[in-house]
Amino acid sequence: VVTDEVVASLRDELVGIVGASDVIVSRDRLVAYERDWTGNWEGRALLAVRPATAREVAGVLVACSRARVTVVVHGGNTGLVGGATPDSDVVLDTTRLDQLGDVDNHSFQVTVGAGVTLERAQGHARVAGLDLPVDLGARSGATIGGMVATNAGGRLAVRYGTMRTSVCGLEAVLSTGRIIERLSGVLKDNAGYDLPALIVGSEGTLAVVTRVRLQLLRRPARRAAALVGARDYREAVALVSHLRARLSVSLEAADCFDRTAMEAVCAYLRVSDPLSEPHHVYVILQVAEPNDDPAATLAAAVDPELLDAMVIAEDTARRRALWTYREALNEAVGAQGIARKYDISVPIAAIPAFAEDARQEVERRTGATATVYGHLGDGNLHVNVLGTSGADDGLDVAMADLVAAHNGSISAEHGIGRAKRSFLGSTRSSAEIEAMWAVKRALDPTETLGRGCVLPPWDEPAAIERSST
Ligand SMILES: Cc1cc2nc3c(=O)[nH]c(=O)nc-3n(C[C@H](O)[C@H](O)[C@H](O)COP(=O)(O)OP(=O)(O)OC[C@H]3O[C@@H](n4cnc5c(N)ncnc54)[C@H](O)[C@@H]3O)c2cc1C
Repeated sequence: VVTDEVVASLRDELVGIVGASDVIVSRDRLVAYERDWTGNWEGRALLAVRPATAREVAGVLVACSRARVTVVVHGGNTGLVGGATPDSDVVLDTTRLDQLGDVDNHSFQVTVGAGVTLERAQGHARVAGLDLPVDLGARSGATIGGMVATNAGGRLAVRYGTMRTSVCGLEAVLSTGRIIERLSGVLKDNAGYDLPALIVGSEGTLAVVTRVRLQLLRRPARRAAALVGARDYREAVALVSHLRARLSVSLEAADCFDRTAMEAVCAYLRVSDPLSEPHHVYVILQVAEPNDDPAATLAAAVDPELLDAMVIAEDTARRRALWTYREALNEAVGAQGIARKYDISVPIAAIPAFAEDARQEVERRTGATATVYGHLGDGNLHVNVLGTSGADDGLDVAMADLVAAHNGSISAEHGIGRAKRSFLGSTRSSAEIEAMWAVKRALDPTETLGRGCVLPPWDEPAAIERSST
């Protein structure tokens, strides 16, 4: 328990580091940090602090470790596993780490502050005719630091990989106050351990990311998108596998959603199904071509039998309008209530069986119909369940078992956060979790960062034990 005296003395110390206007103590301003995007997680912030440089971050972390107060890093708060929600912690808000470096036209790289939103970084790159290889629906709020911390995936991962592939260097601060800086962006650099790669995906538990060196890509000359109706997941998976083989690098995205999701998004956006008949599964595709006509390429590659159940969007406005059906799904489900969310991945061939098993399991346990959408080309499904009680652990266990039975992962792209740490052992072995704890203790010896996130408690043998099965 942190006493009021400790908080008051820490506040004075932090004011000395970042200035009074960037230490937030009033309750009416702190509430903005205390609830996560989904509504599943709510906690209490002792205070919030907004450093503007790595040096200020170092000062904040040293002061907090010395006072034995834990810190939760807070970017855009669009994370979906409760990792940025405080639980009697200091909130380190990255908003002021907002610098945009010059785009390097030799290496197609740029260095940006961790608090820069994805949308702002995209706008900056596009002025130079380049773009970021990772894109996601929460682009206006999600920060580059948060995306690095969660190793975000998104709709283009099937073509360009997840955030890890785009990070060619970073600056990060350890709780000891030591600053790790690797920002030269040289492609070949095998000198010692790859610390930036270790920090990517560490969800604010190893270090605070302050700047990121990103690999950019040249913007493809032309893009087209299409929505295709499929009879079931088997047909949808076959379509995507066929297109990957036919189109190779031209295929940029292959997402999907089921009929429940289509109904939810149509009600939310007050629009109608773009296809004339309802389908069990919808696949949304995107093709990019440097020279050829991407719409023609796409139409030629799709099985003629499916052409009747397909709409193509060629220009930017219609392409964006089509993607809105997929990208508004998180909000559409959120508008119906607080959803239990499972962000899983399985081998692509296992998707039809997993989707059917998951649907049956949810119906049997809750009586509800799951709303399913995701990134089909990566084997990543988001299963959303409405109307369950806050602590329906039975469903969590059943879903973790189902994922393990299909040889998948309980976290595809959102991370572990607070939501799934007791299930880490269902996807990672005890040897791996022990090694993760060793890394954690080496980099954050005072366990100041991300308390209660990612790793199951060391002294909870059951959590570790499960992992050996
Ligand atoms: C509508 C919607 C669509 C989404 N679509 C996708 C998608 O397609 N793919 C996908 O992968 N995710 C998606 N997400 C999830 C979310 O956008 C990502 O996880 C994103 O990377 C979180 O960024 P953030 O800045 O909001 O981080 P936050 O929510 O603030 O934090 C997330 C985690 O990262 C840590 N963190 C944040 N900043 C830093 C930092 N600078 N240093 C160290 N740790 C830090 C936090 O402590 C926390 O553990 C979506 C979310 C929404 C709401």
